[in-house]
Amino acid sequence: MDLKEKIEEFKRKARMSGLKVTPQRVAVYREIISRNDHPSAEELYESLKDKIDGISLTTVYRTLASLEKAGLVMRVPTLRDKVHYDARVEPHSHFVCLNCGRIYDTEIVPEVNTDKLEKEGFKVLNCTVLCYGICNRCKVENEEV
Ligand SMILES: [Zn+2]
Ligand SMILES: [Zn+2]
Repeated sequence: MDLKEKIEEFKRKARMSGLKVTPQRVAVYREIISRNDHPSAEELYESLKDKIDGISLTTVYRTLASLEKAGLVMRVPTLRDKVHYDARVEPHSHFVCLNCGRIYDTEIVPEVNTDKLEKEGFKVLNCTVLCYGICNRCKVENEEV
């Protein structure tokens, strides 16, 4: 799917979940999906503020919250205090680099047995694995020094 198709799909899904398709929502989504680096709200604002008139950090926060509620983006659990966002919403896991902070998608699908939790009355919606360590790029840079 190219970017244009992804945006069309986004609009369709948004309408289906009763979310109004506004230029700002489309812009925020487009930014997340085209960057592919799991940006935080602050990072999104930094790159959008020159492209969209009158956008504020508050608007970005609000937009992300409504997109998240509609299931169009999800939060990436990281070890840092900032919340990062992902436009890829099907279950997948992440690798966080402790050195540079980059967040990578991994195809690791954990086999987690949630029977015990369900028996205790928890309703499990999703499981995710967070791997962390030193990424490829940082490893190479360190070796060069
Ligand atoms: Zn790194
Ligand atoms: Zn991801």
